Amino acid sequence: MANPLPYADAAPARPRSRTGAAAAFAVGPDDPRYAFLVGRGINRRLTTKPAVVYTPAGTEQVRRAVAAALADGQRIAVRSGGHCIEALVDNADVAALIDLSRLRQVTWDPVHRAFSVGGGALLRDVYRELFLGHGVAVPGGTCPTVGVGGYVLGGGFGARSRRHGLVVDHLYGVEVVVTDGAGRVRRVVATRDTDDPHHDLWWAHTGAGGGSFGVVTRFLFRSPDASGADPSRALPRPAARSLVATVRWPWETLTEPAFTRLVTNYGAWHAEHSGVDTPFADLNSSLVLSCRAAGQVTLVCEIHGDGAEQMLDSYLSAVTAGLTVPHTRDVRSLPWLDAVYAELYTTMSPIFNRYKGKGAYLRRPYDAEQIAIAYRYLSDPAYTGRAAINLLAYGGAINAVDPAATAVAQRDSILKSYVGTAWSAADPDEQHLTWLRHFYRDLHAATGGVPMPSSATDGSYINYPDTDLANPVWNSSGVPWHALYFKGNYARLQQIKARYDPADRFRHPLSVQLPGQSEDQA
Ligand SMILES: Cc1cc2nc3c(=O)[nH]c(=O)nc-3n(C[C@H](O)[C@H](O)[C@H](O)COP(=O)(O)OP(=O)(O)OC[C@H]3O[C@@H](n4cnc5c(N)ncnc54)[C@H](O)[C@@H]3O)c2cc1C
Repeated sequence: MANPLPYADAAPARPRSRTGAAAAFAVGPDDPRYAFLVGRGINRRLTTKPAVVYTPAGTEQVRRAVAAALADGQRIAVRSGGHCIEALVDNADVAALIDLSRLRQVTWDPVHRAFSVGGGALLRDVYRELFLGHGVAVPGGTCPTVGVGGYVLGGGFGARSRRHGLVVDHLYGVEVVVTDGAGRVRRVVATRDTDDPHHDLWWAHTGAGGGSFGVVTRFLFRSPDASGADPSRALPRPAARSLVATVRWPWETLTEPAFTRLVTNYGAWHAEHSGVDTPFADLNSSLVLSCRAAGQVTLVCEIHGDGAEQMLDSYLSAVTAGLTVPHTRDVRSLPWLDAVYAELYTTMSPIFNRYKGKGAYLRRPYDAEQIAIAYRYLSDPAYTGRAAINLLAYGGAINAVDPAATAVAQRDSILKSYVGTAWSAADPDEQHLTWLRHFYRDLHAATGGVPMPSSATDGSYINYPDTDLANPVWNSSGVPWHALYFKGNYARLQQIKARYDPADRFRHPLSVQLPGQSEDQA
């Protein structure tokens, strides 16, 4: 079988850069800016040493950067917010890194009657400008330090998604710098309009992940049901306040029966209340099953709009029913933007900053066996990393969209899981990678070690990228990695790849492959 990661073994190609018309914004290894730029990725497990980093300030400069990299025969990677946890950007093969940090403008585009967001904006820029400027928001509302580039291209979900759907469900268009097989580089605007000749390119940017087709320089946001030229009606309007509850169970007193009860209650509630018409669409939640070394298990719940108090009472009663072990409970009402900036769902550590993560779409909750496996791994006193399973609320309006309407094929899950760990530079990476790989494989043992599409699971989320899914040692399901991420949408993505990147200039270990390149088996 051919190597399913065709570039992983290639020798680093780092020819000297000539940079040409992009010289004015090219940063080489001797430049004081270089260390900052190559170190922007959050995952300290990964490193990169490109020959050049381009820092374009606009679309034409991105076009020139791509042209220069192609002329130099360099492997290209694009960086927006730097939150990718797998080696898709920070990769030894990358010779030209295009850093979009200077493309952060958020403005109203009267021509497209849509908000225009620079491809390097961080979510916090987007939330602030849309909300303070116009009282609207894309339906994220979580993790403000994530970049819009990777987030949107993978689908993008957040605290308002059960009410309004994924961020790509509100993506009207993209401005992309693409290249043909002959090295010509051009700018294309592709929209949701079905008569747009580049409609397919828009579709490819609604969930296939970043780095497969070109460089997105601008995202255009307008909800499908919005019309007219009034920006304050172009996207959903968040409620004034968020009611936020945090419940913590310390590991010292968390018994296995209590752990089992909590995870069972949580799963049962979400199985019952994640339909398209759920009256709990304004409720978002994350159960963070941290390991013993992290100290506690945490439930974070956020509710917007009318009836928030009653909804919260009913939710917490159901999820904590029968639990008698000690816990702390903190309930706060915050202005919506304060809740976004409070980073309710993320705990990043400057010490435990080497990461590995694995995702899964859950069509039904963990069963008793999976909960027992989770307890066995997470309660292990010998494990010193900061591991956790995050069980994230899903469903609602997300599931109202047809699986082929966007590139996100998974449209009937009730929860999304992120199984990950973090460790410090003091530990060997391999120790934690191996631990996590076994944990995830055991959790999904019934389906070849991966969340194979089945009645229980529905593949994984490309924004939780995991190259192990392309490795038969860790994926024995017979389902290839791309079918886990993209399911039946992959063939169309490959056709679009052939049209817009026929020479496969934009690639990484989990990028969309040209037709004929994909593996039948993982
Ligand atoms: C702490 C944390 C919290 C998170 N929370 C959420 C969450 O609430 N919801 C959610 O859906 N996801 C979440 N994620 C996952 C997140 O969406 C992905 O990690 C995402 O890919 C990060 O985007 P980025 O731009 O910051 O990363 P980058 O590392 O800059 O880019 C990620 C990928 O996209 C490509 N890319 C980036 N910008 C462009 C562009 N303009 N054009 C073409 N390709 C581009 C890159 O080449 C790379 O392949 C979270 C991740 C972390 C680490």
